[in-house]
Amino acid sequence: MTDFNPHNTNEGKDKDLDGIIRPRELEDFTGQREIVSNLKIYVQAAKMRGEALDHTLFHGPPGLGKTTLAHIIANEMGVNIKITSGPVLDRPGDLAGLLTSLETGDVLFIDEIHRLSPEVEEYLYSAMEDYVIDIMIDKGPGARSVRISLNPFTLVGATTRSGLLTAPLRARFGINCALEYYDAADLVRIVRRSAGILKVEIDDAAAHEIAMRSRGTPRIANSLLKRVRDFAQVKGDGRIDLKIARYALDKLKIDTRGLDSIDNKILRTIITTFKGGPVGANTIATAIGEDQGTYEEVYEPFLIKEGFIVRTQRGRIATDLSYSHLGLEPAAGRGEATLF
Ligand code: ADP
Repeated sequence: MTDFNPHNTNEGKDKDLDGIIRPRELEDFTGQREIVSNLKIYVQAAKMRGEALDHTLFHGPPGLGKTTLAHIIANEMGVNIKITSGPVLDRPGDLAGLLTSLETGDVLFIDEIHRLSPEVEEYLYSAMEDYVIDIMIDKGPGARSVRISLNPFTLVGATTRSGLLTAPLRARFGINCALEYYDAADLVRIVRRSAGILKVEIDDAAAHEIAMRSRGTPRIANSLLKRVRDFAQVKGDGRIDLKIARYALDKLKIDTRGLDSIDNKILRTIITTFKGGPVGANTIATAIGEDQGTYEEVYEPFLIKEGFIVRTQRGRIATDLSYSHLGLEPAAGRGEATLF
């Protein structure tokens, strides 16, 4: 569990800052409007009935607010949250210990839920469905299994790879939310809100510049803000304007469109190795040393959303924007011509 300590004034620690910046209520959570408005209804309805909230799954790329929403749910429901992750729970016994410690209505948050082992996952089914688990007592010939009732609880699962979830697990979540990348206007709001909490002055142009370079991701927006703040303090008068923001972001070698090194590698691979495409997702994934699912679920969605890549029946094609972003000339007769 992450404890919020309002008295912590140690500004040098990013982890503490994260705890302070993280929105604590649905009202403070920017963007993902449909998800937020639905969650408000589900939370209110569950509270009116005096029941635990239905099991909830959040999926989407890293840094978009899945963990934050899990904390917010616990906070709004007025219950405790226990936090674990798929790879940590290697044995059903680890899960049993956690489940039996939950009080009525508590939230159990399992991050990277797609990485649960099959035994642990199977063990979760009866817990989710009927709030019961079977535990083995004794070893050897005397071993027997005993059924234990659990307090009603809410499982909140988060995954970046919803394609890897098994159908039986997915089916046990009553609420299923796909988080999307944030648009510039929402990221500007997030940067301004975080700047307010950090008590740093920032003008609109600078907030916009940070937002544009954040790959649609609040986690990146917040960490860029913190680094730019350092430059503003040391190289300027502490205030963040466009000039100091650009100076800092360039020093940090942040791409002008917010792309990271893997994004750029993908674009370069499509353009230089595969002549701009069309090229299949599995071929691109192999060329960059990733599996196809990670390429398709974690990296590609942002590149498609921003118009760097288009998906056609014959494969992925790099657009003119990719060429200009990398400072390259589109080759005559390249794949894109087949679009039209
Ligand atoms: P995920 O679990 O999806 O990887 P997190 O919930 O850990 O992402 O969010 C990463 C960071 O971004 C957190 O520090 C949180 O404060 C911030 N954040 C995420 N979503 C929002 C939002 N909608 N509004 C403000 N800050 C956000």
